[in-house]
Amino acid sequence: MNILVLNCGSSSLKFQLISTSLEQIEQRADRVLAKGQIERIGGAGLLAFQVAGSQTARSARPVRDMRAALEAVLQWIGSEETNIEGVSGLADIDAVGHRVVHGGESFIQSVLIDDVVLRGIDDCVELAPLHNPANIQGIQAARSIFGKAIPQAAVFDTAFHHTIPEHSYLYAIPYQFYRRHKIRRYGFHGTSHRYIAYQYRILNNIPRKDVNIITLHLGNGCSIAAIKGGDSFDTSMGFTPLEGLVMGTRSGDIDPAIIGFICEKEGMSVHEAEMLLNKASGLLGISGLTNDMRELIAEAEESGDRRARLAIEIFCYRVRKYIGAYLSAMNGADAVIFSGGIGENSALVRSKICDQLSWCGIAIDPARNAELVDGQEGVFNGEGSRIRLGVIPTNEELLIARDTVRLIKGVI
Ligand code: AMP
Repeated sequence: MNILVLNCGSSSLKFQLISTSLEQIEQRADRVLAKGQIERIGGAGLLAFQVAGSQTARSARPVRDMRAALEAVLQWIGSEETNIEGVSGLADIDAVGHRVVHGGESFIQSVLIDDVVLRGIDDCVELAPLHNPANIQGIQAARSIFGKAIPQAAVFDTAFHHTIPEHSYLYAIPYQFYRRHKIRRYGFHGTSHRYIAYQYRILNNIPRKDVNIITLHLGNGCSIAAIKGGDSFDTSMGFTPLEGLVMGTRSGDIDPAIIGFICEKEGMSVHEAEMLLNKASGLLGISGLTNDMRELIAEAEESGDRRARLAIEIFCYRVRKYIGAYLSAMNGADAVIFSGGIGENSALVRSKICDQLSWCGIAIDPARNAELVDGQEGVFNGEGSRIRLGVIPTNEELLIARDTVRLIKGVI
């Protein structure tokens, strides 16, 4: 089957067209046929489309809204010049799989979308006001273009974390706020952590129940998960994706009293202070330069910029603290696996994080670590390391496509 995977953001749409089926999943023979993205939806759109194995075609043109963006993608897929293997038009797309950020407590696994599910996703908007509305727009656009005959699936960022026990998902605030407003840790990046755990199991040829690892998704957004017996046991993002590690523009953990203090001192509203923590903090806030780790590293190395160095230091220190906390929370782990743009590509960040972890038997092989760049899979722990260290490039789109097929075939 050809599955169109959509990841719709507030002003962007990313897609992959993936050929997969139950047989292909079994043989791990799924294939990406094409992929691309449209940025700056609602204005002067930037389009970048690529048939697998070919050059990326870039263009710019106004893109009114999510529906117009999806139409542009489908027009490209169906155009005679595009030439995607086995796909000549919309009729060759069998189903659509959507990344949906928040599934609240209702959606604990992927589901086929019907009117009831759509209302359920809408009910979660107040929990993810920046994300779920865009996901809903993507679903509605796909429904109106394809009609209800083409199955659509929703794969939730929060779902993998539904196994987190009560003592780690509840905050120590009055219990009625959980009852009344559902304030609790939900966790995000779940599809990424699930993929990394799955791939670890496949690579090591072990049953799911033996997967006891710590997974690190370090990209623009960053989170860490403790995976015990194959299930998510704890994770650093919380009620929203703001909690936890230092990220590109998000602060991660801070003393909550800082918010009131900033509001008073700077004359900001709570909303403005929250935006500050989401958009102007993290690596960008500390360095005053950029949210981009690669640029920060270059700046620190080339000009020795103090705040660039500090931002990298704080970033790595926070990750290291969480690794220690999770090793303790889950009574030890067999491996720490790195993923995401930073985790997959930066040997420097990986080695800084692993520095000072010798107390728990972690030892790094510097040469192997240096070799793991450009999205390669591999291990980089030293010979005597008690905990395995590895890189597994994440692939959320693949899991979304596979879940969509499994739902259609009734095996989820
Ligand atoms: P993602 O959100 O997963 O695409 O990750 C984006 C982040 O990965 C940005 O901060 C990039 O600067 C960072 N990144 C990508 N390649 C490298 C690299 N070679 N070294 C350091 N950071 C990188």
